[in-house]
Amino acid sequence: MPSTWTLLRIGETTAHDPDLGALVAGLRNHLAHDGLASCLVQIGAAQRAYVALQGCPRCATGRCSVGCRVELLRRTLRAALGEQVTLTLVKRGLDPLGYRRMLWAWPMSPSAQPLSGELLAGWPRARMAVHWRRGGARRQVSALVCLGGTDGPDMVARLRAHGWASLEAPAVAHRWLVNPFGPAAQWCGAAVAGEPWLLLPAREPDGATLSAEASASGEPAEAPEEAR
Ligand SMILES: [Zn+2]
Repeated sequence: MPSTWTLLRIGETTAHDPDLGALVAGLRNHLAHDGLASCLVQIGAAQRAYVALQGCPRCATGRCSVGCRVELLRRTLRAALGEQVTLTLVKRGLDPLGYRRMLWAWPMSPSAQPLSGELLAGWPRARMAVHWRRGGARRQVSALVCLGGTDGPDMVARLRAHGWASLEAPAVAHRWLVNPFGPAAQWCGAAVAGEPWLLLPAREPDGATLSAEASASGEPAEAPEEAR
């Protein structure tokens, strides 16, 4: 992740009827000017969603400069997911530990389907990062899926069912891939058509968002650590 990028956690929302039109419009506008990374961390049944984007020098103070992309994204998320949704600065990156397998993934054709948190279901520990390059109608997108804990479902088959090819990263490359926002994590990109999307936590059948594992303690399930 370039040092000028800002990592933020998308707070949980119980909105049953997200305004996807508002989300798409905001993302389209963002990607016309800049890139965007979207990341989902899963521990047990809990998922947390993050975004990384170019912010302004005042993001850390909570008083962004006029036109700051973080503030614009915050407004987009509120319009799409409800006023209560939060976008919180994560100062030290994500915990890089606990992943045994890492897969690069990219769309096999422009009609590839969006990825979502449901892809990670059944894995005790997993992380998926998607990178959108700045662009217009056909935007370049790439993904990195990291898997940990005991074995889970066949991720290669799941990605293929969504129209995504994948390549297992050799163990020697893992050290460059623990940072989901680094250049190595964006290695395999391909164009995709259709509207841009963000990784959001998977929803339970009744529409409720999965609660974070450690929410009762108020501490993050995945302790923020410096991404190396
Ligand atoms: Zn800002």
